[in-house]
Amino acid sequence: MSKKEPRKNTAPPEETLDPRDWGPIRELGHRMLDDMMDYLETVRERPAWVSMPDEVERKLKEPLPLEPQGEEAAYRDFRERVLPYPIGNIHPRFWGWVQGTGSALDMLSEMLAAGMNPNAAGFRQASTFVELQVLDWLREMLGYPEGASGILVSGGSVANMVGLAVARNSRAGFDLRRAGLHGGPGLTLYASSETHSSVQRSVELMGLGSEALRLIPAREDLTLDLQALEAAIREDRSAGLRPITVIGHAGTVNSGAVDDLEALADLCHREELWLHVDGAFGALAWLSPELRPRLRGMERADSLAFDLHKWMYLPYEVGCTLVRDAEAHRKAFALMPSYLSRMEAGVACIPPLFSDYGMELSRGFRALKVWMALKARGVRRYARLIEQNVAQAAYLTEKIRESPRLELAAPAPLNIVCFRVAFPNLPLAESNDRNRCILEEIQEQGIAVPSTTVLDGRLCIRVAITNHRTTRSDLDLLVREVERLGRSKP
Ligand SMILES: *Cc1c(COP(=O)(O)O)cnc(C)c1O
Repeated sequence: MSKKEPRKNTAPPEETLDPRDWGPIRELGHRMLDDMMDYLETVRERPAWVSMPDEVERKLKEPLPLEPQGEEAAYRDFRERVLPYPIGNIHPRFWGWVQGTGSALDMLSEMLAAGMNPNAAGFRQASTFVELQVLDWLREMLGYPEGASGILVSGGSVANMVGLAVARNSRAGFDLRRAGLHGGPGLTLYASSETHSSVQRSVELMGLGSEALRLIPAREDLTLDLQALEAAIREDRSAGLRPITVIGHAGTVNSGAVDDLEALADLCHREELWLHVDGAFGALAWLSPELRPRLRGMERADSLAFDLHKWMYLPYEVGCTLVRDAEAHRKAFALMPSYLSRMEAGVACIPPLFSDYGMELSRGFRALKVWMALKARGVRRYARLIEQNVAQAAYLTEKIRESPRLELAAPAPLNIVCFRVAFPNLPLAESNDRNRCILEEIQEQGIAVPSTTVLDGRLCIRVAITNHRTTRSDLDLLVREVERLGRSKP
């Protein structure tokens, strides 16, 4: 080969996922957006839930696609096999478990975040400053002191884990990060028997063992029994154990019970214990000046876990942990490997890495949907929606009290109502069965989606309203239909 002849490039053209021609994907995108707006606009016209037919379920099992099926085909299959079969949580009559609703604006925020696709690990980029602003707003919204730290996480379960990990490390009394659990006495934690399963899972994952979590039998109103708590702490101390943390609830998952957080904060202060509050949904009631007194003491918690995908109705996933002592928070997670060194200038200059405050390094831009929502609507609008849900729960409670066939199964202090169809002449097991069948029919017929729980051995129909689309007439319909099914023979 002579030096003068230019070398021929024989390599195949390099590939990218970007289209050569942006026209078709742009057109498909507009269609998707229109379809999803229609889908949201007409949600009330559809059943609350439809069971996915076996045939569709079978179609969702296909061989790994080695060759392209094309964007149009992928979207067609989404429309036919996925979109029509949701759990139903965006529907006005979905009240199962505790699930948020989402909205059109929030969907668009998710699109913006996905389009920018920043790795929101930190660094000097807009997402970092948006997230820091959001954390500061959340802190202020929930009455938490300035200087507290926080982290956005996937949801309440992880938020509980983060809070409990900081609690464990800062109250262990020895260098737990270095020595592990063998470095000191057995650590114990306390919660009412109504605590969420994620609390136990966190305790297990942290290596403390579920036995270390002392579940204090709840009082009749399903709140934590403070006297029994004090006795348990005393007993553990005299057995040579080291009590570190009390978990209080701003809204238990079963019934929305709120522990006496003020008294708990006093007790924890006296006993030098860490107060962690699980406020997965209930913490948001703080936004309402009318509801805030019910949560008094929450602002004194050492750590507070809550979700924004429940009672702020944001799309999955987003939750948050706030920690009063920012230094304790950082000390539980911070590490400085050489490849993450801060620089004097450039991308790695100054702002924090969120991995100093939680488990994740690479992270999505969860903060954007919170930022957009708060800016677009303001806190007061959310406060009104939350008050509306609480008023709707009170309305449902009243309807149940008035009904000769229905009975309340627990107090309904917030937005959760547990009730049953009364079968006074049937033994408990049978009346439980009948209530379960009624609930299944309500769901199968697509009328509404409440869920169930068992309180004191009694199976109840459970309505948790974290739904900005619900109206009182939706609850009228539920009551009517439950009464109808209660009358019909099994
Ligand atoms: C939902 C819930 C959790 C768990 O939150 P996720 O977002 O589902 O992980 C924890 N505690 C309570 C009281 C809850 O209602």
